[in-house]
Amino acid sequence: MVPMHEIPSRYSWWLHCLLSLGSCAAIVVAGAFNVSGMGPTEWLTVLGTVLFFIFFENAVHRFAMHRPSKIFRHLLLQHRWHHDAFSGGQTAIPDLRGLHFVLIPFTNIVPVVIACAVPASLVGATLGKNAFWAHLATVMLLIIAYETVHLCAHAPESWGLRRVPFLRVAIEHHAVHHHPDMWMKANFGMAFGEISDRILGTKVTARQYEESRCRT
Ligand SMILES: [Zn+2]
Ligand SMILES: [Zn+2]
Repeated sequence: MVPMHEIPSRYSWWLHCLLSLGSCAAIVVAGAFNVSGMGPTEWLTVLGTVLFFIFFENAVHRFAMHRPSKIFRHLLLQHRWHHDAFSGGQTAIPDLRGLHFVLIPFTNIVPVVIACAVPASLVGATLGKNAFWAHLATVMLLIIAYETVHLCAHAPESWGLRRVPFLRVAIEHHAVHHHPDMWMKANFGMAFGEISDRILGTKVTARQYEESRCRT
């Protein structure tokens, strides 16, 4: 059972959505207003950012959120808290207050934006202002995609998202990762998990997982 009783009474799921998704969306809008004319450099920046993000989200999850280290200890503890909330075998939250366990924690929103702005500044210093906004806005869109897919993976059963083909694949992909004997081994990708985990050799399907359990 998801420990809903642990959620503070003052928690507001819509405020959490607004701050985590809305802050990223605001930067995307700012990017749209600040880019004047997308040339080959800007489109290549967008393409490079997407390709980088596909493997970056996988690597951060695999190495920073699941491997003990002094530098990323805070991330590891937060992510373990997320896994613990769903350790009973249920990955669906009963209602939207359960987003407390799913979305980027309130305290991480500003650090995440700052962490994204640093490489964007380097891109901007090298390729110009347009590339800065192209890179930063793309990263923010990809974080929104990450958060949305993760939200869908933990959405209430009553939403029926498993009936949507693309989402069913993503939901099953992440559900395998949440099995305690899998979370150090497989399915670290989220928005692009099907791509990155297949290429990196860490993809385990729900069927493969069930077969491996039957053999042991
Ligand atoms: Zn999860
Ligand atoms: Zn994990």
